Amino acid sequence: MSIHRKSCNCNCNKETFKSRFSTKRKSVKKVSNKLTMIQSFARSLASRGLTNKKTDIPTKQLRVLSCFGDASIGGSLGPCEHLTTSEVSDEKYFCGKCGCGDKKSTWLEAESVEYSKLDYPRLVCPLKMPGFSNYDGSDSKENIRKNIIENYEPIKITKLTVKVAEKD
Ligand code: SF4
Repeated sequence: MSIHRKSCNCNCNKETFKSRFSTKRKSVKKVSNKLTMIQSFARSLASRGLTNKKTDIPTKQLRVLSCFGDASIGGSLGPCEHLTTSEVSDEKYFCGKCGCGDKKSTWLEAESVEYSKLDYPRLVCPLKMPGFSNYDGSDSKENIRKNIIENYEPIKITKLTVKVAEKD
C-alpha cells in the first residue's frame, strides 16, 4: 500500500485532509472508560440536534475506513477488531468496544435515508481512530491499522461509497 499523500478531487485538499487527522487531539480521561464512552455517545446524540445534522462525506469515509477497512474497494485493510455483527440483523454492525450495545440507534451504518451512528457530527471512537472527534495519532506506531489509515491515499478514500442524506 502506498504511503504517499496526494491531493484529491473532492473538497479535501492536502491541508484540509491533514487537518482531519491532526485536529481535536484531546485526551480522554481513562477513569470509568465505559461510562465515558456512553457519555460521549450522549453528546453525539446531542450533536445531531433538532435538524438531524450529519457529518460531511470525507469524514464519514474516514470513519468507514477505520471501522470497516477497505475490502469494499478491493483493498487489503481488514475491519476493526471491535466491529461486531448485530444479532438483530446480520447485515448491520456495531462497535463492540464502546459499550452502547446492539440496537438500531447504535448500528454504524443504516439504510440510505436513515440516520446511522457514523453520521453524527461529533462521534468518539474507543481507539481514537481517524475520522472520529477524539482522533489521536500518538499511538500509531503500535496501532498498525491506524498507521495504514494515516498514510492512506486520499484519492482512494474518495472511492469508498458512503451515504450522507441531505439536511432537511
Ligand atoms: S473501536 Fe472505533 S474503529 Fe473500531 S469499530 Fe469501534 S468505532 Fe469503529
